[in-house]
Amino acid sequence: MTDNSHIRIIKPPATVFLVGAGPGDAGLATTAATEALQKAACVIYDALANPVLLKYCPPDCEYIYVGKQAAAHTLSQDGINRLLVDKARSIGQKAMDARCVVRLKGGDPYVFGRGGEEGEFLRQAGVPFRTIPGITAGLAGPAYAGIPVTHRELTSTVTFVTGHERDRTESPAGATGAAGAVTADPAAPRVNYKALAQLGGTLVFYMGVKNLPDIASQLIAGGMPASTPAAVIHKATLPQQRTVVAALCDIAAQAKAAGITAPAITIVGEVVKLRAELNWFESQPLFGQTILVTRTRQQASGLTAGLTSLGANVLEAPTIEITQPDDFTATDAALKNLAEFDCVVFTSANGVEAAWRRLRVLGLDCRAFAGRQVAAIGPATHEALGNIGIVADLMPEEFVGEKLAELIIASFGKGYASSLAGRKFLLLRADIARPALREALAQAGAQVTDIAIYNTRRPASLPAEVLAALEAGNINWITFTSASTADNLYEMLPEQLRSAVKNCKRLSIGPITSQSLAAHGWPATVEAAQHDIPGMIQALLAAVSKA
Ligand code: SAH
Repeated sequence: MTDNSHIRIIKPPATVFLVGAGPGDAGLATTAATEALQKAACVIYDALANPVLLKYCPPDCEYIYVGKQAAAHTLSQDGINRLLVDKARSIGQKAMDARCVVRLKGGDPYVFGRGGEEGEFLRQAGVPFRTIPGITAGLAGPAYAGIPVTHRELTSTVTFVTGHERDRTESPAGATGAAGAVTADPAAPRVNYKALAQLGGTLVFYMGVKNLPDIASQLIAGGMPASTPAAVIHKATLPQQRTVVAALCDIAAQAKAAGITAPAITIVGEVVKLRAELNWFESQPLFGQTILVTRTRQQASGLTAGLTSLGANVLEAPTIEITQPDDFTATDAALKNLAEFDCVVFTSANGVEAAWRRLRVLGLDCRAFAGRQVAAIGPATHEALGNIGIVADLMPEEFVGEKLAELIIASFGKGYASSLAGRKFLLLRADIARPALREALAQAGAQVTDIAIYNTRRPASLPAEVLAALEAGNINWITFTSASTADNLYEMLPEQLRSAVKNCKRLSIGPITSQSLAAHGWPATVEAAQHDIPGMIQALLAAVSKA
């Protein structure tokens, strides 16, 4: 027999992807970037990469933050290089398994991001790597500030410059303003301001906030007209974006007066003038508004997406969690015997989804509803029914329980009181559903089975960022989509922050929610005329445009 004991099987290292996360707005990450994240076993990311992108990663992915703000854990560039190699080796490459290491960097990995150095190190260590370019802040920032970096009539060149010359030891990808010790590196190539001033065209400076006075005066000394338009864009492409425009000779003072800090991009050149016409991002209707959305975790996304697309900065405070009932006996009995009911009534999308999940557990599907009338309280419920193959027969024009009851009575009982005698209704609702609908139907003579198909629970606590924003007075509006969002927010807030809610404007979905708000001493500032999410957005837009 041959002795193989001297042979060691060495796993080849996993591939490292040097991925550009884009400038901030998560929508500006490329498809290739999101695909790399989907197969990441480990993501090593910086301060300027939007952490929202981590939602693409598989559940067992490891996250390592190496940005500059993590004071206790800051890694040197060497440390990051070694970490990449160690992770690639320990994860290793397995047959038929494409799990990789993602090095996620703000903007583009090779634009002032030290991605080149990381690539060199990986290469020397024999670790395979790929590069996924990203949209760099120097292009996206101006675009979101209404400044095209080139224009046929104004410039044919655009130059990217680091404004952070004096501190070449700092990892720029993690730099968000913590200046640290400024250490001159005599070996580093210096920026030739005179040549830049002569070249003119569009100049884009990264990492230049601290050195802005120096940059401007060197350009002017090099022969650039002091009147050249300039702009500084802070937190570009994010809802917190702020832009200051001034002549080159004033830009440093103006940026300082406006309190502009890193990260910011400075752009110098005639193209800055085009902002007057092309400033689309900062002129969105809800731009500059910070809105706190209090909803169930499951349902916040629709409202959040709508508000975000109008330019708002949205924070989410989940105030309701949906849980399964402990006991399904009554639910199962009803679902197995749907044929006994004349009409099944849903008052929330959650109810529809819960019913569907339980039907599937019972081995049933939408055919269980065959021949039954189905009623929905409003469009979201209607849509949820559509998703399981059912088109609701009844939906009131105003989306509240009382109106749904009126509609049902009108259509089943031809409008006569007590005309629902002998009719059987099944209500599949939340444990905290109001009794109004059940009572109105019962009063009209109907036989009503009211089942809590899902339970609601108040989460233990609010996210720390939400408490901090309330405390700092940074929230303009708070949205309430049900009485329980108001009640639960009240219960979840520490005493001293309850009054902070008074200082915000409050948007209510409708009268029942407004009643709850008023009971807590938080009267609704605006109540939506149409009691659903689009109605709330409409009411908010009207209020903001009037202000
Ligand atoms: N690789 C990155 C740049 C890293 S250097 C890229 O391609 O964008 C870090 C500098 O980038 C910051 O100091 C700032 O000048 C700029 N920057 C990055 N993100 C920015 C943002 N959202 N808004 C403004 N400037 C940004």
